[in-house]
Amino acid sequence: MGVKASTGRQTLRVAGLIDGTGAPQLNDAAIVIEGGTIQRVGRTADVLGDISHGEDATVTWSDGIAVPGFVDAHVHFTLFADGRSYEAMAAASDVMMAIAAARNAFVHLRAGVTTARDNGSRNRLGFELKGAIDQGMIQGPRLLVSGRPVTQPTGHFHWCNGTAEGPDGIRAAIKGLAAEGADHIKIMASGGGTRGTDPARASYSISELAAATGAAHEVGLPTTAHCRASESMARAIEAGLDCMEHGEFIAADGARSFDPDLAMRLVDSGMYLSPTLQANGWDTIVRLRPLREAGALTAKEEQILAAAERDTEITLEQVGLLAGMGLCERIIAGTDAGCFDFSFGHIDYCLQLMVAAGLTPMQAIVAATGAAARACGVGDQVGTIEAGKRADVVILAASPLDDIRAASDVRAVFKDGNPVG
Ligand SMILES: [Zn+2]
Repeated sequence: MGVKASTGRQTLRVAGLIDGTGAPQLNDAAIVIEGGTIQRVGRTADVLGDISHGEDATVTWSDGIAVPGFVDAHVHFTLFADGRSYEAMAAASDVMMAIAAARNAFVHLRAGVTTARDNGSRNRLGFELKGAIDQGMIQGPRLLVSGRPVTQPTGHFHWCNGTAEGPDGIRAAIKGLAAEGADHIKIMASGGGTRGTDPARASYSISELAAATGAAHEVGLPTTAHCRASESMARAIEAGLDCMEHGEFIAADGARSFDPDLAMRLVDSGMYLSPTLQANGWDTIVRLRPLREAGALTAKEEQILAAAERDTEITLEQVGLLAGMGLCERIIAGTDAGCFDFSFGHIDYCLQLMVAAGLTPMQAIVAATGAAARACGVGDQVGTIEAGKRADVVILAASPLDDIRAASDVRAVFKDGNPVG
């Protein structure tokens, strides 16, 4: 590719362009970038025909397909993604978490994620990581951070030290997070993988969740709720939260049980859903399937693989049903990378799984670009390749509309018009 970082005008000419709005792929397209912003975009003949290039102008040709820089609505950059338990992760120092975060942020950026929403890190780590990227100390996606997730005193992620209970306690916690620089509020509305918590149980009352929504909106921050239990999903909808993470329909008895009535309320609510399709064991599946084919699995591994396959299949089925009920445009990409073995650098897994759930490749691309940017409150800046937006562009080797696996073959990444490398 060889585009130099430049404050002058540069033009990226590509064999094809998918702009992230849902509009069809444009062939032989050009993107004119100046000062990190997209000035013009369209057919090469139209764009280059009436632009006179100054001496600093460069035109770069690629036979690849341009898509908007991906937006990952759910990451945990300070976690290790190496399969250890939350308790083992929490035993690490803040310094180790910061080192992991610097590595993880770069790995994710290089795979095409130019915007990411960090949904929970300990103490001030999220804010400091964002500062380090903004100051150019390390390379990473433009970051939106929740800081410490709001959770019950012994709730999921309580070890991030953002515990609060009761409407007043929650309002005070959110005021503090906003003052520290939070871009959004993450609240744990059910248990999760943290020991002592139960993913089948809701953890906050409707009035507590409504207090969170009110306090966040008062200072202009969007909210997102970790909801695995059906009961927590129902309460989050009732409390007017902006986005739901996971949404697994776990009934009180612990079974995954799709509830059409609850699903319809979600569709009607206007909430976004970040179903974190990778988070039911996809990385485990990717790692263990080749071993199964080679006949090299232990009995224990066979059990782990079968459970991950079952859980992932249920998730895909549920998300397919929700998409069919009308939620499609508000389903967004989130990897949950960092937790357990959920790897960084694999937004492509999320895209593949969305297509497996029944979305078209175009719908999956929009879910990971334009729609995710809107859900994160930055749809006016990123998520689509349009004039006036930041010049965050990914060049893929082939069109993901023909085969979504093309999203795994990233040729180049530009953030603010600068090549990542
Ligand atoms: Zn998460």
